[in-house]
Amino acid sequence: HGSQDCGNDEDVVELNDCRRHPGEPGAFCLSCRGSFACGLCAGEEPCGGGGGGGVGDGGERHQPVPLPAACKAQKTELSQALQSLSEQAKSGSEFLQRLKSSSERIKSNREVMAAAVTEQFDSLVSALQSKKQVMLSQLASEQEHKLRLTRDQAAQCASSLAKATGLLQLCVELLKETEPAAFIAVSAAMQDRAAGMQRSLQRQTESGPRVSEQFEIRLDPEPVLVAINSLAFSEPQ
Ligand SMILES: [Zn+2]
Ligand SMILES: [Zn+2]
Repeated sequence: HGSQDCGNDEDVVELNDCRRHPGEPGAFCLSCRGSFACGLCAGEEPCGGGGGGGVGDGGERHQPVPLPAACKAQKTELSQALQSLSEQAKSGSEFLQRLKSSSERIKSNREVMAAAVTEQFDSLVSALQSKKQVMLSQLASEQEHKLRLTRDQAAQCASSLAKATGLLQLCVELLKETEPAAFIAVSAAMQDRAAGMQRSLQRQTESGPRVSEQFEIRLDPEPVLVAINSLAFSEPQ
């Protein structure tokens, strides 16, 4: 067995002992990668593998090489594979570090974005509050306008009523006149004045208040609400 030793694989060592061909070393086929008791045994059957470049299934012969040489070659191959794997593991480990620090950067980018979005919303809110102040003060101006017109009309009406009251008192005094000639002399003029005053008061009363008590203005927030609801993140070009 000693000359056939390759590492300490027990199975490999057992294959060295071919009962039909004593002394022949164990064999390995480079084509189908099968193990044989010896190279002569390998020659007695067809090779099914195409790995070694054999063309045509079943008709090819094995390509047996002595097991120790095959073992040495495969150890070299495995070492190379090991080295490649080790280098790949190093790259993988660097990539893993990148992924780990990547999640930190994702978090910090989120914080930056959140601050920017908060600032944008704050400025929307403050624009809305400014607009509210502007519109409330428009409403206050509208109220002032209505109150001024109403005060003016009330003052006009009060003035007319005062004149009417004066005329009434004058007429009451006139009715006390006992001298027919004196009464007749002014009664027609007084009647005209009373009728004129009556018409004037009637005009003022029937025309009603100069301004409406209602505020004929409306605020329609619907388009703004639609715009707010349609706010969404967009992706940069
Ligand atoms: Zn044999
Ligand atoms: Zn083979």
